[in-house]
Amino acid sequence: MTQTAPGAQPGADVRELRAQALELAPAELVIGGQWRNTASGGEIAVENPATGQVLARVPAAGPAEGLAALDAAAGASQAWARLAPRQRGEILRRAFELITERERQFAALITLEMGKPLADALGEVRYGAEFFRWYAEEAVRLYGRTATSPEGHLDILTVPRPVGPCLFITPWNFPLAMATRKIGPALAAGCTCVIKPASLTPLSTLAVARVLEEAGVPAGVVNVIPARGDAATAPILADRRLRKLSFTGSTPVGQRLLADAAPGVLRTSMELGGCAPFIVFADADLDVAVDSAVAAKTRSNGEACNAANTFYAQAGVAEEFARRLAERFAAIEVGDGLEPGVGLGPLVSRGQRQTVAELVDSAVHDGARPLTGGSVPPGAGYFYPPTVLAGVPEGSAVVTTEIFGPVAPVTPFETVDEVLARANAVDVGLAGYVYTRDMALVQRCVRELEVGMLAVNTGPISNAAAPFGGIKHSGLGREGGPEGIQEYVDSLYVGIPR
Ligand code: NAD
Repeated sequence: MTQTAPGAQPGADVRELRAQALELAPAELVIGGQWRNTASGGEIAVENPATGQVLARVPAAGPAEGLAALDAAAGASQAWARLAPRQRGEILRRAFELITERERQFAALITLEMGKPLADALGEVRYGAEFFRWYAEEAVRLYGRTATSPEGHLDILTVPRPVGPCLFITPWNFPLAMATRKIGPALAAGCTCVIKPASLTPLSTLAVARVLEEAGVPAGVVNVIPARGDAATAPILADRRLRKLSFTGSTPVGQRLLADAAPGVLRTSMELGGCAPFIVFADADLDVAVDSAVAAKTRSNGEACNAANTFYAQAGVAEEFARRLAERFAAIEVGDGLEPGVGLGPLVSRGQRQTVAELVDSAVHDGARPLTGGSVPPGAGYFYPPTVLAGVPEGSAVVTTEIFGPVAPVTPFETVDEVLARANAVDVGLAGYVYTRDMALVQRCVRELEVGMLAVNTGPISNAAAPFGGIKHSGLGREGGPEGIQEYVDSLYVGIPR
């Protein structure tokens, strides 16, 4: 690891970009088209994880603002649903264009509040904005179907209808894209929403809300209420006007929210945690496997639900794979993500770094060998070096826990049966990665790996046109692609005698 000098003064370019980025995001919440700079829950101090300094203070919503936001979303619901799909699509398309015109500013805002490097944040902006373009195009393609009953006595028609007001609760690791991935399909389908962004990173979502307003989204259709814990969302979940909850975050919080959603029999979409296996078979193209491993582990500083978590390398290539990965990791520059050349930023918070450091320490205690990285560097900010652990024993916690940091535990395996059993032994099943030239082996992994998304001989595969989501404790439902809009549509069945 190389690290930029902590505390060094940023250059003029960086200072200007930082100022432009902060201009995008009002430190206010928005309810029914009104931007407010005070709220009953006090305020949330948003930190820059590269320095630990406060970037902005945002009002924190309490129960009163939560209910006011639901009032606004419910009040705007009918008119938005009745607006022509073409008009809804054009507004989304305009929002895509506005974000794209300002993509560097948006990227810098993500870097400032979340920590990922600017180039990586730019990737998030493009990925996130694409949900507005993709669903702008889908808004006019929501189809029902017709059929004849087998007895021949009825015409069966299905009519897609928007589900109604939605609550979105989003995480800090993709503060822009996790919001747009929900807003895009919801608005296209004719739904309104209240969004509670993560308290660590509310600014990017507020900036998205402002762009949507500029693009022509009417007051009340999108309401954003930064808040702590469940302070603002508990009363919303208990209110029968709410029709849907879509949550992205950790599995334990998702499980609790599923219970909170049960009394209202709410429709739910749950995008939860992962523990992605990255399997390198002995016949793999190691250049491809190593390139993919770097991308799948360092994207978003390793704080991605679909990040490669556990690297299984077959006997014969395990040592070479670990050595080459360590060489690549050691060359990554770590520092403030706004500085040029930085390949890895700080983790999002002190607590997150502590969790990662403890997992590495326990793996070393279990017998793993750090080939690079492995300890907390001195200085300001919540940095943790890219780390490769070789020879990680099978039972070590780092193998079966979602790491959420730039740490690659490499654990050897002998047979296909063994690696599939080990990879499937966890409760979650979000993403998986396999590397082999053997098509029969690929097909076996397609059939037997318990995941919702599988990358074959490539790095991360997230795409607005594809269904993102997991199985087992990784969640319910899909975001992206034609599947994503169905989460916001009820299918009304109409039967007419023939
Ligand atoms: P988290 O579960 O701690 O928080 C997610 C959101 O829920 C935040 O907005 C948080 O403030 C809110 N929250 C927490 N407790 C709540 C409660 N009781 N009621 C209402 N809201 C509450 O998750 P995180 O640390 O922000 O994000 C990391 C997790 O998200 C990881 O597990 C990661 O795998 C997962 N994730 C999943 C996906 C996916 O698509 N499957 C994508 C990104 C992140």
